[in-house]
Amino acid sequence: MPKDLAKFAKDNGVKYFMISYTDLFGGQRAKLVPAEAIADMTEDGAGFAGFATWLDLTPAHPDLMAVPDTDSVIQLPWKPEVAWVAATATMEGELVRQAPRNVLKNLIDEAAKEGLRVKTGVEPEFFLLSADGSKISDEYDTAEKPCYDQQAIMRRYDVIAEICDHMLALGWKPYQNDHEDANGQFEMNWEYDDVMATADKHSFFKFMVKSVAEKHGLRATFMPKPFKGLTGSGCHAHISVWDMDGKTNAFADKGAELGLSERGRHFLGGIMKHASALAAITNPTVNSYKRINAPRTSSGATWAPNTVTWTGNNRTHMVRVPGPGRFELRLPDGAANPYLLQAVIIAAGLDGVRSKADPGRRYDIDMYAEGHKVKGAPKLPLNLLDALREYDKDKTLKAMMGEEFSNAYMKLKHREWNSFVSHFSHWEHENTLDV
Ligand code: ADP
Ligand code: MG
Ligand code: MG
Ligand code: MG
Ligand code: MG
Repeated sequence: MPKDLAKFAKDNGVKYFMISYTDLFGGQRAKLVPAEAIADMTEDGAGFAGFATWLDLTPAHPDLMAVPDTDSVIQLPWKPEVAWVAATATMEGELVRQAPRNVLKNLIDEAAKEGLRVKTGVEPEFFLLSADGSKISDEYDTAEKPCYDQQAIMRRYDVIAEICDHMLALGWKPYQNDHEDANGQFEMNWEYDDVMATADKHSFFKFMVKSVAEKHGLRATFMPKPFKGLTGSGCHAHISVWDMDGKTNAFADKGAELGLSERGRHFLGGIMKHASALAAITNPTVNSYKRINAPRTSSGATWAPNTVTWTGNNRTHMVRVPGPGRFELRLPDGAANPYLLQAVIIAAGLDGVRSKADPGRRYDIDMYAEGHKVKGAPKLPLNLLDALREYDKDKTLKAMMGEEFSNAYMKLKHREWNSFVSHFSHWEHENTLDV
C-alpha cells in the first residue's frame, strides 16, 4: 500500500510536497505542490517539460509525469512544513527508461533474479566555502595536514552538528563526523542500507548539506576537485550483497581470502573488469579526472586511485577490502549521480557473478610509492573523453545499464565534453602565444 501523502501532511503539519526526480547529470528537479493538491498528484504525477532537464527528451515530447514514490517521503528537518518525495519518471503511463532512478530500479530487479540483494554505504565528502564559492569559508583552516583537525571542525560545529542532528532525527543512524584531508573539507557517515534507500538518502543528504550551509551563509560543494593541490572529494561506496531476506551476507566467508566469499570475489571481478568503463558514471565530470590521477596533494597523498587494482585494508588502491563480507570502491567522486552510482555497481558486479569473473591478484603495496612496480594493471581513464570511449566500447555494461539510458547518457556527455574543449582557456594563451 502506498503511503497516503494527504494524511501524512495532516499528521505532520506539512504544507508543501517537493516532488523530485533526478536527471542524467544528477540535477534534482522538483515541483512544490501544496498538500491540498497532493492526492491527485500521487495518482497522476506532477507534470514537467522533460526537455528542460537533462534526460535527452525533445520539446515535442509529451509531459514527463513524476509520480511520487510515497515510501521515500522525508519531512525537511530544517523546514518541517515541506516534505521531499522521490518520484518515478513516467510518460504516457510508461517508465522513462533512461531516468536514473528507473535505471537503478531495473538493476535491483535484475539482481533479485539471481537471489541477490545489494546493500551499500556511501561517504560523500564536501567542502564548506564562502557564499560565492570562491574560497574556503574558514580562513584559519590552513594546516598542511588538516585531517581530523579538532579545532577546525569545532569552528564549523554549528553546521555539522545541525546536519548530524537531522540525520539522527530521520533515523539514519549517523555515527561519526570529521574534518577531512583537505582544508575546508568534511565527511559525515551514516549506516548502510539497501541500494535504493542509500541512493535516496544520498540525494537528500546533498540537498540537506547545501541547504543547511546556505542557512549559515556558506556554500557547500561536492565538486570532485575544487582546489588544485588539495585532496579532492570522493564518494567511496562500501558494498555487500545479501540473500533476499537481507539477513545472510553472501559476501562473507570466514575461511576465504580476506573473508570474501566466492560470489563476493566474482562481484568484485565484475567491478575490476568494467572499471575503466564505469568511471564514466562514477566520475562523471570534466573535473572528476583532476581528482584521480592527480599529483600528490599538499597533505602528502591524494587518497584517490589511479589504477585498477585491489587490496586488503590499504587505502592506496581502487578497491579496499577493509574486513570480511564487504569491499570499498574508492573510485567514485562527489559528482556521481546517486542513482547511477548504485546502478553501475550492480550492473558490473552482476555481470561478474554471471560470468564468474576473477578480480585477479591483489597487491598489498603502497600504490602511491610502489605503483610503478605493478606491471599490467590498467590505468584509470585520464579524462572524461577517455572514460566515455571506454564506456561506449563496453557492450555488456551498456546493455546491463539499458540501451535507452546508455544512448542518452553518451549523447549528452559527449556534448558536455565538446562544450568543454571548445572553451578557450587561459592555459592556451600562456602556453601557445609565442609558438
Ligand atoms: P572509511 O572512511 O574507513 O572508508 P566510513 O566509516 O567512513 O569508512 O564509511 C563506511 C561506510 O560503509 C558506512 O556507510 C557504513 O555503514 C558502510 N558499511 C559498513 N559495513 C557495510 C556492509 N557490510 N555493507 C555495506 N556497507 C557497509
Ligand atoms: Mg509553464
Ligand atoms: Mg570515511
Ligand atoms: Mg573520506
Ligand atoms: Mg572510505
